[in-house]
Amino acid sequence: MANSVDFVVVGAGVFGASTAYHLARRFPVKRVILVDRKRPNPCAASSDYNKIIRADYKDKLYTELGLEALQLWKKDELFKPYFHQCGLLCVEEIGVGRGALEHFAALGHDSGAVLMALDEARNRFPHFQDADWTGACEAYFNPESGWAEADGALRSVIDAAVEAGVEFLEANVTSLAINDDFSCKGINIIDKEGAIERTILAVDQTILCVGAYTAKLLADTSPDWAELQVNGRMIAAAAVQCAASYPQEEEHKFSGAPCHFLGMWHTHGESIPPYNGHLKFNCEVSFTNLVHHEGLNESISVPPSAETQNTFSQDVPEGLKQEAQNVVKKVFGKYIARLQIESYRMCWDAVSPNQDWIIDHHPNCNKLLVAGAGSFHAWKFLPTIGKYVVQRMLGDLDDDKAQKWA
Ligand SMILES: Cc1cc2nc3c(=O)[nH]c(=O)nc-3n(C[C@H](O)[C@H](O)[C@H](O)COP(=O)(O)OP(=O)(O)OC[C@H]3O[C@@H](n4cnc5c(N)ncnc54)[C@H](O)[C@@H]3O)c2cc1C
Repeated sequence: MANSVDFVVVGAGVFGASTAYHLARRFPVKRVILVDRKRPNPCAASSDYNKIIRADYKDKLYTELGLEALQLWKKDELFKPYFHQCGLLCVEEIGVGRGALEHFAALGHDSGAVLMALDEARNRFPHFQDADWTGACEAYFNPESGWAEADGALRSVIDAAVEAGVEFLEANVTSLAINDDFSCKGINIIDKEGAIERTILAVDQTILCVGAYTAKLLADTSPDWAELQVNGRMIAAAAVQCAASYPQEEEHKFSGAPCHFLGMWHTHGESIPPYNGHLKFNCEVSFTNLVHHEGLNESISVPPSAETQNTFSQDVPEGLKQEAQNVVKKVFGKYIARLQIESYRMCWDAVSPNQDWIIDHHPNCNKLLVAGAGSFHAWKFLPTIGKYVVQRMLGDLDDDKAQKWA
């Protein structure tokens, strides 16, 4: 593996994998290295049984971007095999449904999405006849939305990037390599064989896509350099998930089930129809893990180091398990007999204060671009997000997007 390349992309979650893929397509003769601890890493937020794919947003730009990504999920051979268009039913008080309808109308897009009375929703989707929709006034259904097999799709984008010439390096990046003039010259790594630390130089750009690990990697790089740090812009936060199983004879009850988002004051969570016998739930209550960083001499939120506290396991605090159980109960009630939660997971992502992503040159470190702060909603943009990272790097990104992701 070369010690000097044109582009180094650190992190092979959705931001990094998509960026490497789009870089290779845009610059077929340049050398690109995509570095991660594993390919893919089960600890990454992007690694999962499945993720929801939707264009239903309160925010107009993400609605537009969601529609663009949806087209690729439906039609592009790279993504299509992993997409399941089952629709999304929202019962919520946040205004996602009404907001999305407004944006679809303004964009002239006929999604087939509708508002309906709760009774009508229960008749149409008997899967939720026992759901606790207390306090809700209406339901929203979009038949265009659905879910994707997360690990399969992520792996296929990494493979496509490698096929297009990207070199994948399994290594731990210990820090960024910084020049005397405070520009980024590349990365310091310990490869999987261990022990020897070496530097990989990035002639054009280093692109940092390490999600929830961003604050720690910058702190480890140069703890005394205050202007390098994330300074609250990208905070590692987690939400709890769980996977459940059910008796074979109950399988037919999921026929025609959509994804369900329940966003009421008493419950914030999502359910995704079964895949390989697993029914997955997200609970949207987020939390941090503050750890004292010696170099910084302050506390920052970092994902726990134990793999079991990043992946599906039983190693999740009891209170969080109860939150997840609450979502399962509020979504299905007694509709499915002997629904059994098998495992839980704390899924760690980077979150920005306004939940917009960050895709921008580092303001104080030349030749370093930061892409992340998925803020619990970036996975669905796997087909397109890297295109915008490359555009930002080249100065080609529209002003509205550049400002939003600054
Ligand atoms: C519970 C939950 C449910 C979600 N559900 C959805 C959903 O249904 N739909 C949706 O669109 N979005 C969803 N999201 C959001 C989505 O998963 C994230 O926004 C997205 O995956 C973030 O991608 P990323 O590339 O920034 O980070 P990650 O996927 O975490 O990738 C970062 C990568 O960097 C690597 N890395 C970190 N540090 C180093 C280092 N020092 N050396 C080498 N490699 C390193 C890691 O190994 C990892 O692979 C959800 C998020 C959560 C928490």
